Amino acid sequence: MRKTRLIVGTALAAIATLGLTACNSGSPTSPGAPEAGSDDALWQVATDVDLADSPTYEAMTARDGVIIGVKNDQPGLGYEDAASGERTGFDVDMARWIAASLGFDEDKITYQTIPSANREQAIVNGDIDYYVGTYSITDKRKEQIDFAGPYFETGQGLLVAADDDSINGPDDLAGKTVCSVTGSTPLQRIRDEYSPGNTVEYDTYSQCVEQLKGGQVDAITTDEAILAGYVALEPEALKIAGDPFSEERYGVGIAKGDTALKDHINALLTDGGDVWTALFDLHLEPAGIEGTQPAVDE
Ligand code: GLU
Repeated sequence: MRKTRLIVGTALAAIATLGLTACNSGSPTSPGAPEAGSDDALWQVATDVDLADSPTYEAMTARDGVIIGVKNDQPGLGYEDAASGERTGFDVDMARWIAASLGFDEDKITYQTIPSANREQAIVNGDIDYYVGTYSITDKRKEQIDFAGPYFETGQGLLVAADDDSINGPDDLAGKTVCSVTGSTPLQRIRDEYSPGNTVEYDTYSQCVEQLKGGQVDAITTDEAILAGYVALEPEALKIAGDPFSEERYGVGIAKGDTALKDHINALLTDGGDVWTALFDLHLEPAGIEGTQPAVDE
């Protein structure tokens, strides 16, 4: 099944290359990791899982499937191809790798696209088993949920039009309109710690990108890893301005108190440096993103 989608993805990439848009490997059609069972698979589906103490795992086994919360509009991280329905990106493959470690193959995964503002609630409600989507570990969020990880570190940055030389950092935003996403840490920080002329918020970063390209906003602020994915798609139109000005540590959002699941994911990350590097090289490095695997929290 996975194979079919990989072929579709490759065909789309080929079409995009023929078209006007530059199609480098930062494109949303970057293939996923080779499927479990194939010769070059990065992981296998576990058959010896022992997680009796995890209520989340119990729910997954009872329904014989895993429900994962993700993003669908963040190229290189969490992206869904509108035509093929294929999901690609570092976060999506991270989610698949975790599912496989719990004994669930791709055909047992249901993805739910959930925007930044609704993540904690989806986990608290039990609508999803876990969430992997540029989800920063914060003390405030930890009041409602737990995090495994971190599995990646980046920092808040600014995206502007390629020909805009007036913004070179968060202190240049006086009189400017800045777009970000409801419920995100970058929106909160730009309001609390800096003085932009105005802020506007949407559910997704791709909506902000449309606003920026249409000239309705002057800048977008969020994590550089997300912004770099948009630049990789449209380097003629967009650029990152200045240096990162925060530390965002991405975790896997899980139900509060599910220590068995948290320990399981942390052990997977700690022992899986080779998989991490392969996924980073596949999805993020091509967009010019730098990074090394962080150690998981105690
Ligand atoms: N990492 C930040 C956050 O968790 C921004 C990215 C996002 O909205 O997903 O709020």
